[in-house]
Amino acid sequence: MPRAVSSGNCELCGKSFRKSGMTRHLQSCLAKTGGAKDAAGRSIHLVIEDDDRPEYWLHLAVPAAASLEEVDAYLRHIWLECCFHLSAFTIDQTYYDYTPFEIEEDDDFTDLLATWLNTNRKDMNVALGDVAPPGKRFRHEYDFGSTTELTLRSLAEIDGDGGGKIRLLARNDAPAVECVFCGAPASWVTRTEEDRIAMTGGLCEGCAARMDIDIDYPLPVLNSPRCGVCGYDGDTIIIGEPIGGFDDDDDGDE
Ligand SMILES: [Zn+2]
Ligand SMILES: [Zn+2]
Ligand SMILES: [Zn+2]
Repeated sequence: MPRAVSSGNCELCGKSFRKSGMTRHLQSCLAKTGGAKDAAGRSIHLVIEDDDRPEYWLHLAVPAAASLEEVDAYLRHIWLECCFHLSAFTIDQTYYDYTPFEIEEDDDFTDLLATWLNTNRKDMNVALGDVAPPGKRFRHEYDFGSTTELTLRSLAEIDGDGGGKIRLLARNDAPAVECVFCGAPASWVTRTEEDRIAMTGGLCEGCAARMDIDIDYPLPVLNSPRCGVCGYDGDTIIIGEPIGGFDDDDDGDE
């Protein structure tokens, strides 16, 4: 089945663009609307997409001084958080996670992996601008069981740090999810007989009420690559508030 063209909205001017044209558009839109040239600090234009479901994508302006931990918190807030899974960034050969500790090399854990982690692992308390300057492509993983894997690219520097706040520049429009039984727009995703692994089967309100089908618990359809994975229901659980806080309309619950 051909994949529908992915479009999204520019948060700066409110206009809709295809995914493939959004980067070019934002470059000119940022120049027009985004940057007081004398604004303090600088930001990194970050584009993020899900590896398995590239129809989910974000453009962010992240203060260059923001830490990877703050980027992680933002991603959890807008897209990922279901139940406090671990997460990590991989940039070049370095692995950034929350609490690096020395791993003992013993029989239960392969020495090679322990050695690699002990030498290549750092915590997330590093500035994005230092480890991921423009041109850098890197990865983020959330949940090492049913993992959501993201690719991030630092595109360019933007004048001004947005008052120290991560700003949403653009995101994909929610992909249409159809009910597997009747084709109507689905409100839920659930496991089906055909797909017992991922919750990719759409279910509409009518069919959910009418049919006595053997479904596991349904999850709401949300604009997130985590839709249907683990217990993702879009309810924001925040561990740490990132610098500048969140915009209320940034989470997946829309
Ligand atoms: Zn625009
Ligand atoms: Zn979970
Ligand atoms: Zn239906």
